[in-house]
Amino acid sequence: MSGEGSAPLPVREKETAEAPAEAGPSKNALKKAQKEAEKAAKKAAAKKADEEKRAAQQSQAAEDTAKDLYGPLPEDDIREIHLKKLGEEHIDKEVTIITRIHNSRSQSAKLAFLMLRQQGRTIQAVVAAGDVISRQMVKYATSINVNSFVRVSGIVKSPNPPVASASISNLELHVTRIYLISKAIEQLPMQVKDAERPPPASAEEGAVDAEGAPIVTLKTRLDNRVIDLQTECNQAILTISGAVQALFIEYMYKSGATPLNTPKLLGTATEGGSGVFEVNNYFGKSAFLAQSPQLYKQMLIAGDCESVFEVGPVFRAENSNTHRHMTEFTGLDFEQVFSKHYHEVLTFAENLIVFIVTELQSRHKEEIDVVKKFFPRAGDFRIKDGKALRLRYLEGIQILKDAGVDTTEQDNFVTDLTTAQEKKLGQLIRAKYDTDFYVLDEFPYSVRPFYTKRHPTNPDLSYSYDFFMRGEEIMSGAQRVNDADELEAAMREKGVDPNSDGFADYVNAFRQGCRPHAGGGLGLNRIVQFFLGLDNVRQATPFPRDPQRLRP
Ligand code: ATP
Repeated sequence: MSGEGSAPLPVREKETAEAPAEAGPSKNALKKAQKEAEKAAKKAAAKKADEEKRAAQQSQAAEDTAKDLYGPLPEDDIREIHLKKLGEEHIDKEVTIITRIHNSRSQSAKLAFLMLRQQGRTIQAVVAAGDVISRQMVKYATSINVNSFVRVSGIVKSPNPPVASASISNLELHVTRIYLISKAIEQLPMQVKDAERPPPASAEEGAVDAEGAPIVTLKTRLDNRVIDLQTECNQAILTISGAVQALFIEYMYKSGATPLNTPKLLGTATEGGSGVFEVNNYFGKSAFLAQSPQLYKQMLIAGDCESVFEVGPVFRAENSNTHRHMTEFTGLDFEQVFSKHYHEVLTFAENLIVFIVTELQSRHKEEIDVVKKFFPRAGDFRIKDGKALRLRYLEGIQILKDAGVDTTEQDNFVTDLTTAQEKKLGQLIRAKYDTDFYVLDEFPYSVRPFYTKRHPTNPDLSYSYDFFMRGEEIMSGAQRVNDADELEAAMREKGVDPNSDGFADYVNAFRQGCRPHAGGGLGLNRIVQFFLGLDNVRQATPFPRDPQRLRP
């Protein structure tokens, strides 16, 4: 019976009236049976739909004429070639490349365009449905996330007109297979195409260009450096940076110099405490990061090494937030004995820069041209007649004076040239001598460190030199003091205690005799920056470190 307050259904009342109560099912039992029947019907319908779906998929797969030509990477023997090796000799041939998807565009269900990128180089690929290539394959190609790695095979064609947006504009790939190797996430923190424009002059975030595309600041680029490095321009800069290092080694090694490494962990802050990073848990003591290999290069010379060089990290604890200073950079250092005059070493160093610049210009023209698209000064670095211009420091001051620059402090040997004066001098020298590389020799003794050899006839000056590219310093060097007594006196004069920890070993190195020697220290990152005319030394450094940046 129905419970209290529930209204009995008319039909049920009828059933109850016509049939004896004990023979018919109860109302509850009827309800239950009805529910079960509904449930069974639903289940059957779901099963049927499932079966139909599976059947449809199976038949679709059976119809997909390209089902083995796309998807996950299969195991096969197909060998890829590098995009940089692709040329017109491959036209009408099938090639296989491994690239990232730079971007993709679906034209219709039967046609899609992909831009493929390998180490900054881009090439257009066409996926067109036909007898073998299916619509499913076209859809698959455009469904792959931008930046994913794919292995693509295709017939090389010569597009007419050339594909202006691709760096390889004279060739195009008509895709025959495409397989996914490694998937990129859907939402990249920064797009490679956005990093392909030079950073804006302002550091303000969120700016957009005339077409509404984001202008990415240098900070955002450096925060996302792994993506930033993938641009065509940065790939070329990295190649040139590697080349400068390799050319330095080539030149040095060919000259008979020995590549050696000096310690970067020191027990004392040897070259002035302010610019040194302290490591404060060196087994219960303090240690310091080397701010130059200077003293050790000289101790190697005292140890009969005659001619040495090193490529290694240099640490500077200076809070200099400029376009050319970092707290860690790559130093290219050398030191060598000479027979008669330190100018033998100076000439050797000048020829080093001439060698690096001319070899870069002949071996890496392609990369320089790429950088030039983004930094227009890249191609115009000039060394007149392939020879360094050497001037005396005082001649440089005179050029500035003649141009109306105030040089009172430099006249009194109080300070070195300021950065602004150096840049101005660079412009004046380019205008007067038609060169971007010059050397100033015989700096004032007062602005150089204690190990610098004093000028024998003019005690205000020294046997020291700086090298400049586009008016900014890339190298400092000098003849060094090689006599222990003279060194001790020079140290005292410059306020350094020769008997203090860290210096005693150095001074003692000269007590058992040491040949006259000279050398220099160059900054790799600055050479790349100024050779290519980049705005900032960080753009010439894979993962720069400065007072604000210790990541990535
Ligand atoms: P600057 O006057 O520009 O500060 P510096 O006189 O301190 O340079 P040196 O100590 O003589 O430079 O170092 C030799 C070379 O090392 C420099 O000519 C430059 O190429 C490079 N260098 C020096 N300091 C830095 C730095 N903080 N960041 C990048 N490179 C540097």
